[in-house]
Amino acid sequence: MLNADDALAKLLASVKPVKGSEVVPVAEALDRITANDIAAPVDLPPFDASAMDGYAVAAAGFAEGPPHMVEVVGESLAGHPARVRVSGTDAVRIFTGAPIPEGADSVVIQEDTRPNPDGIELKETPRRGDNVRPRGHDVARGTPIARKGDRLDAYRLSWLTACGIDRVDVKRRVNVAIFSTGDELVDTGKPLGPGQIYDSNRFVLTRLMSDQPVRLTDLGCLPDSPNAIRAALEQAARSSDMILTSGGVSVGDADYVRDIVEKIGHIEFYRIALKPGKPLAVGKIGDLDFFGLPGNPISTIVTFLLFVVPAIAVRSGGRHASPLEFSAVLADDIAHTPGRREYQRGVAENENGGLVVRSTGDQSSNRLATFDGANCLIRVPEDRGDLAAGEKVSIVLLRDRGRLF
Ligand code: AMP
Ligand code: MG
Repeated sequence: MLNADDALAKLLASVKPVKGSEVVPVAEALDRITANDIAAPVDLPPFDASAMDGYAVAAAGFAEGPPHMVEVVGESLAGHPARVRVSGTDAVRIFTGAPIPEGADSVVIQEDTRPNPDGIELKETPRRGDNVRPRGHDVARGTPIARKGDRLDAYRLSWLTACGIDRVDVKRRVNVAIFSTGDELVDTGKPLGPGQIYDSNRFVLTRLMSDQPVRLTDLGCLPDSPNAIRAALEQAARSSDMILTSGGVSVGDADYVRDIVEKIGHIEFYRIALKPGKPLAVGKIGDLDFFGLPGNPISTIVTFLLFVVPAIAVRSGGRHASPLEFSAVLADDIAHTPGRREYQRGVAENENGGLVVRSTGDQSSNRLATFDGANCLIRVPEDRGDLAAGEKVSIVLLRDRGRLF
């Protein structure tokens, strides 16, 4: 059995980025992947600007030792530059974000001034550059503000927008097809017959992909029928970049998915030293990336997070960055048999300046209850036996739960 790290490395080495790109308005570019480097088309700010409310002056006009009397010769507001030149001991009343008037090179903040019957008194001696944001201080024209393969999040998009960019060349979305398999599965909203359960995997995978740069094709819930499964896989191979299936990859009599992929494509690897998620099957049908996710709901979710999310990042032309791991102290013992790396759902909390984590209890891979209140995955190393309370473990936060910004 491959270990989880080798499996991921093997997978990522086999995934090829999509080729096409398209130009979209920045308002529609959230979570998309840039197709090219983007250089700032302007200096930001585009002019020397005041960082504070106060008085703009030419520092050279002020000899040693405050106080200094200045004559206020104009006003510069954000969006309304002063049309005067500052020299000697002139000052221009100025506000945050307003252009520094010609001749001026520093701003004395309002708090360091005092009105005086003859004008304004500066309580401090200005030094060149004080409280000035020089032109290009944020970014100079021509400097990169995004690199090919960056994911366009709100922070980066705000930078592009600040530079006046309103359209951006992004990689096309990855076409992802999805189906679940199982004679026992029923879509929510319908009554359950004997021996039936609801299909939750297709539901959770669809939601977990809602902020991924993908276009989903839902091929529904298929019976355990080799013909139906084969037809769906062939359809996906014709029209999609990636297929996610759930169920039917174990060793049961009704587990056909892997056999069919072996016939019409190939399996890159099957079975990894991972808990939950051992039966994960990864392969290709032509250019189609195939993921046979195990049917148990928790195995589906965990293998999706650990393998499919990185694969989507690469397939969409982006980069995969391993999630940040945090060190936390175990609050309770964890029973573990050496052999497979385990990811337990956990609840991490700040305690006495450090992180303390506890498992959510019985971690059976059918128990969606293990996500109840969980905000992280606890990594139990493959080579370890039982872990004892007080030991340090690595955790990764669940994005939607970890109270991340
Ligand atoms: P399988 O891998 O097909 O043997 O399925 C393993 C377990 O996961 C079985 O108990 C299935 O009933 C369950 N299962 C499979 N697919 C789903 C699904 N889409 N939603 C919920 N449970 C599922
Ligand atoms: Mg099944």
